[in-house]
Amino acid sequence: MDLQSSSRQSSPAPPPAPAPGADRYPALDFANTALTMPGGVRLDLLGSPAQATSWLVDRRLAPPDAELLELCAGRLRTLRDHVRELIAARIDGGAPPASALAALNDALTLAPAVELLGWDEATGPHRVPVHPADRVADHAMARLAADAADLLTGAEADRLAGCGAGDCSRYLLRTHAARHWCSVRCGDRIRAARSYARRTQGSGARIEG
Ligand SMILES: [Zn+2]
Repeated sequence: MDLQSSSRQSSPAPPPAPAPGADRYPALDFANTALTMPGGVRLDLLGSPAQATSWLVDRRLAPPDAELLELCAGRLRTLRDHVRELIAARIDGGAPPASALAALNDALTLAPAVELLGWDEATGPHRVPVHPADRVADHAMARLAADAADLLTGAEADRLAGCGAGDCSRYLLRTHAARHWCSVRCGDRIRAARSYARRTQGSGARIEG
């Protein structure tokens, strides 16, 4: 099926902007690092040690000079997959796999998840990220796990949803009841698909939404 309103691109599209809620919950942003792009292209924003390092540094979860090795990048990806299982279970209303819960709790207790208090004349009191050079991944994982626990147990957890665009794998916090897509791009694709369904349905029942 080729939709009239869609434009074909020869080069892969860049990853969409963070999904609604991912700006406030790093754990949601973390879950969305495993992406399925339009056309079924899978993308892993933590796919290499360099990608995993910049993802953490950009979110102040690791110091600017951090360099993750593949072992640690792999541990991050594994935790990410478990966080995705936990979010999926919260959305479905079922129990998550015991392994996902155990992995999150392991990460929570790996290292302190809080920032220390720093104080100097120039800046006064301020929070200082803790990440000894040899435990960058442990600290980042502890903070992401703590954020995931907050997300899953918080007042907003009922608004967690999977993107409604069938071929998209991102999660979001719905900004209102009808919002079920993670990006303008997915919203456009859903609307185009609905419009196509209406056209091909002829005088049959309309799909509302
Ligand atoms: Zn989407």
